Amino acid sequence: MPHDSHDHTDPPSDLALRVKALETALTRKGYVDPDAIDAVVDTFETKVGPRNGAAVIAKAWTDPAFKRRLLDDASAACAELGFSGQQGEQLKVVENTDAVHNMVVCTLCSCYPWPVLGLPPSWYKSHAYRSRAVIEPRAVLQEFGVDIPNNKEVRVWDSTAELRYLVLPELPAGTDGFTEDALAELVSRDSMIGTGVAQA
Ligand code: FE
Repeated sequence: MPHDSHDHTDPPSDLALRVKALETALTRKGYVDPDAIDAVVDTFETKVGPRNGAAVIAKAWTDPAFKRRLLDDASAACAELGFSGQQGEQLKVVENTDAVHNMVVCTLCSCYPWPVLGLPPSWYKSHAYRSRAVIEPRAVLQEFGVDIPNNKEVRVWDSTAELRYLVLPELPAGTDGFTEDALAELVSRDSMIGTGVAQA
């Protein structure tokens, strides 16, 4: 499908109003239960989000056997921690090393691993990020404050509805003796998209 016919960005400014009007109409006709809609919204606002992904990363940093399972079958490894479901069925974890920095984009629209990262930030859905991430990834990373030395490879992974990616950032220096919970605090959302790094 050509990009032009599949552009999900820049929703109209009255989108929220339209959604509200639709919800009201459907509720009045008895087609939807507003409590059910609230439950879905609550799930994505409070239960699903980057904290889930951070817990996965911290466990991978502290448990080599879990890390192997995560790199081998990320969907199954994340499900061990209770993170699974819609938009996370086929998940692949890509590991940053001293030789490789990974970054994730969806050039077509906004595919993103919801169970571990929640909903995507607006910049992830922007046309600028989607196009420039593949054309000039190092320049984009610099704008995010991430300087990748020229001798380090940058790999850009294009998400699809079938396969979504999560970056396993490098363990920051100076974290010897940190608990898993303390390590999870160092894992930002952007470090798991690859537009940031984990920092102590
Ligand atoms: Fe997409």
